[in-house]
Amino acid sequence: MKAKCILCDQVNDIKGTSLLAKQLRKRRVLSYMCDECRDRIDKKTAERLATGNFKEYRQKKNDPYI
Ligand SMILES: [Zn+2]
Repeated sequence: MKAKCILCDQVNDIKGTSLLAKQLRKRRVLSYMCDECRDRIDKKTAERLATGNFKEYRQKKNDPYI
């Protein structure tokens, strides 16, 4: 199935049988981010964590990005 990245509007083909695709269809996950944007954000988050001025809040359950 096709999924559009919420940040860069890039349309990617993701496996229709994947967990992410299933969650998108069932609206468990409301937004899709492409690998590029996720990497970029991961890096920025890590940088901010390193400064110590930023507290990380992370959802443990049902998070496909962990
Ligand atoms: Zn993107």
